[in-house]
Amino acid sequence: MNDVKLAVLGGEGTGKSALTVRFLTKRFIGEYASNFESIYSKHLYLEGKQLNLEIYDPCSQPQKAKFSLTSELHWADGFVIVYDISDRSSFAFAKALIYRIREPQTSHCKRAVGSAVLLVGNKQDLCHVREVGWEEGQKLALDNQCQFCELSAAEQSLEVHMMFTRIIKDILTNFKLKEKRRPSGSKSMAKLINNVFGKRRKSV
Ligand code: GDP
Ligand code: MG
Repeated sequence: MNDVKLAVLGGEGTGKSALTVRFLTKRFIGEYASNFESIYSKHLYLEGKQLNLEIYDPCSQPQKAKFSLTSELHWADGFVIVYDISDRSSFAFAKALIYRIREPQTSHCKRAVGSAVLLVGNKQDLCHVREVGWEEGQKLALDNQCQFCELSAAEQSLEVHMMFTRIIKDILTNFKLKEKRRPSGSKSMAKLINNVFGKRRKSV
């Protein structure tokens, strides 16, 4: 069984818990306890594979100018970065998070630089008080090799489900690419022997 670890990050009140709970239970509750962090577990069947999905939903802290993210970067296979389309400061925070995930110093973390990231503009139902344009979100995502979508945890259960499925599929694709890049010991040894003897045979 594949383990898939997903961190849902973003500013306070952007709807991280609402999205996570919507995905896990198909319900929108409205108010969520925000003073403790949670790791939820769910078994999934996707692309012919049994998956053990873990979703990290951090406790809400005021948006900090400085944050380390180090443990999240080591832990997660992929990230959902959430902002609130009616709150420009949450978009700035999302941007800072994406830069942190993509910055070159992060390459020592086992997964971070090439890891799957999906930027989500939540609370699309509040588009009458929108402060962040769809194009801005799309551009930030494109510039930083992220996926992008806008949706509403409050009103769109199916879209939330599709959003999580999309990021999980990206993570599985990354797993496959990594497997290809790292041939197993016996295979690479066979290749080496073949190369050496193959060459000799040719020169005789
Ligand atoms: P978190 O701090 O990022 O975990 O945010 P929460 O999930 O606790 O949500 C913060 C507030 O935003 C709560 O009052 C939610 O009911 C509300 N909220 C979350 N998603 C939406 C949404 O899609 N639309 C609207 N209008 N409110 C939302
Ligand atoms: Mg929360």
